[in-house]
Amino acid sequence: MNLLDIIKKAGKEERAIGHFNVGSFDMFPAIARAASGAPVVIGVSEGERAHLGLGHAKDMARSFGFFLNADHTRTVEGAREAARAGCDMIVFDAADKPFPENVRLTREAVIAAKRARRGVVMEGELGYIGGSSSVFDAFPQGVVIREEDMPTPDMAARFVKETGVDLLAPAVGNVHGMIRPSAGGGSSSGGNPALSIRRIKELRAAIRVPLVLHGGSGIPDEGLRAAVQAGISMVHVSTELRLVWRTALQRALAAHSAEISPAKFMPEVLSALEELVARKMKLFGYD
Ligand SMILES: [Zn+2]
Repeated sequence: MNLLDIIKKAGKEERAIGHFNVGSFDMFPAIARAASGAPVVIGVSEGERAHLGLGHAKDMARSFGFFLNADHTRTVEGAREAARAGCDMIVFDAADKPFPENVRLTREAVIAAKRARRGVVMEGELGYIGGSSSVFDAFPQGVVIREEDMPTPDMAARFVKETGVDLLAPAVGNVHGMIRPSAGGGSSSGGNPALSIRRIKELRAAIRVPLVLHGGSGIPDEGLRAAVQAGISMVHVSTELRLVWRTALQRALAAHSAEISPAKFMPEVLSALEELVARKMKLFGYD
């Protein structure tokens, strides 16, 4: 089955494909252990691509049976390059631009990428949800959190029709990164705002392509589960992976302060990562 069919099948089963961003090669085997054969998409942002090398990331993804996504690609040329390099999917992101420009650029990227690689799955972004997968002390500027500012079903349907995207990531109260509770958000268990489950349902009913949720970090478990049941077919997780990787590494280094062999202290870092990914996959309906 190709990736798009796998995503559609997940949607029909009220499950969501896990999309995990990696910034370090040792994350691959940890994610593979957690996924234990379930479909997974590995995402590499432009920064992560520059760090890992797109070719190496693709080889690693293939060797573990993962799909590879060129995450948040911001130029048409970048989308063409990612398609040529053999990425299975490309997230084209012009969501910070006004609607007409977002439509125009996304349509150009879809045409360029599909010409470079037939069958590459193209995702478009509608509504700004912030740019950085970090832990924030203040609420990121310009992010759409009020329902009246979120893309409407009509707008989303028009976007899909005019751009030809295979997947749509709408702003539905999700934010890239995690917001500390002290920064003030909306949900009960943290600083991240609550998702609009109602808007997800309305969008699901109005458009024919699968819906993708970015910013899966910092959303309480019940929010994620409700989003998947309402019609989200893929969930992106990045910030939580970074946070767990770094926290576990600091802890491991402190616990083995005289140890210089990564083979000795890295396994506990990767176990922590594995545990997080397994927990998320279970929430998404894969256990
Ligand atoms: Zn994202």
